Amino acid sequence: MKKAYRKCVDALGKNRIQLNEPLARHTYMKVGGPADLFFVAQNSNELKKAVRAAMKLSIPYFILGGGSNILVGDKGIRGLVIKNRADKITIHKFKGRMKDKKVVVEKAQVVAESGVITNLLVRKTIEEGLAGLEHFLGVPGTIGGAIYNNSHYQKELIGNFVEEVAVLNTEGKEHTYKKSEMDFTYDYSILQETHETVLTSTFLLKGGNPRRIWKKAERFAKRRADTQPLSFPSSGCIFKNIESKNGTYGTNIRQYTAAGYLIEKAGLKGTKLGKAQVSEKHASFIINTGGATASEVVELIDIVRARVKEKFGVTLEMEVFKVGQF
Ligand SMILES: Cc1cc2nc3c(=O)[nH]c(=O)nc-3n(C[C@H](O)[C@H](O)[C@H](O)COP(=O)(O)OP(=O)(O)OC[C@H]3O[C@@H](n4cnc5c(N)ncnc54)[C@H](O)[C@@H]3O)c2cc1C
Repeated sequence: MKKAYRKCVDALGKNRIQLNEPLARHTYMKVGGPADLFFVAQNSNELKKAVRAAMKLSIPYFILGGGSNILVGDKGIRGLVIKNRADKITIHKFKGRMKDKKVVVEKAQVVAESGVITNLLVRKTIEEGLAGLEHFLGVPGTIGGAIYNNSHYQKELIGNFVEEVAVLNTEGKEHTYKKSEMDFTYDYSILQETHETVLTSTFLLKGGNPRRIWKKAERFAKRRADTQPLSFPSSGCIFKNIESKNGTYGTNIRQYTAAGYLIEKAGLKGTKLGKAQVSEKHASFIINTGGATASEVVELIDIVRARVKEKFGVTLEMEVFKVGQF
């Protein structure tokens, strides 16, 4: 074992680090080779400790949330993979008033650690009578991953509800970004340039009627189930939708802006390469029909991009992040 790896094992604990852990076990697509070193951070302190240890030893590190928006290469990831399970949620500045002898919530600040499962946060905020995050019921993964990519559903971006984001910067120091500094746009936050680690995200949510918010959330979840191939492993939409001239995006506006629409019109639904397949249900999803490799997925992606470029002159950009060695 490399000297730096041995020091990292010593720093984080021999019984806490797995060697050559297969990442297919930790990704939604069930694809990906081994991580040299694999550590599960059970809380924020462990997350910071692991990142700082890797920095000190000049070991490359990768923060793994739910693994629902990545494609890990068949040769895996060199260095340290830190699986983030820092999952505390706290509610501050809860403001309410009495109406008809009941407390009506007006607004609250919700602080979520970055390893919080997005779906759990959505459910908890709805139960507390807080509106906004219901759009994301059914988005897999963690808050860290959702902030990194500014998760979206239909017209709503998760960044719209953020007040500030606390990170560990690349020098190992803590720093807080105001929402305006996060450069949130469709499928983008500044973290994609800075490569900092999200520690917590603070959301500012308005009060609402929990029953009505649940109804809305259930509508979104049902729409997902109706339109997405949820019974197969995937990483969600592989490609970004194409921004139209007025800056809007998504599936609920003019259809040709949806990547899936172009892929379908190029006649690619159901196209298979090995065990990877363009979904019949949603053409921007590539599904693993059982035992697909990352190379098969990449080859299929290349076929789709080439065909869409040829037919429509559009270069599809990836929404999913390719990580590790292929
Ligand atoms: C069935 C299905 C449906 C989906 N539907 C949607 C949808 O409607 N809308 C949508 O936007 N996405 C959707 N996705 C994609 C995905 O669920 C989201 O992008 C999700 O927010 C990713 O979170 P994650 O924790 O799984 O990130 P991961 O896949 O683990 O990581 C993604 C990137 O985020 C980085 N990252 C993760 N945590 C941190 C952290 N703490 N600090 C810094 N960087 C971090 C990783 O290093 C990596 O680069 C879907 C995926 C699937 C499988």
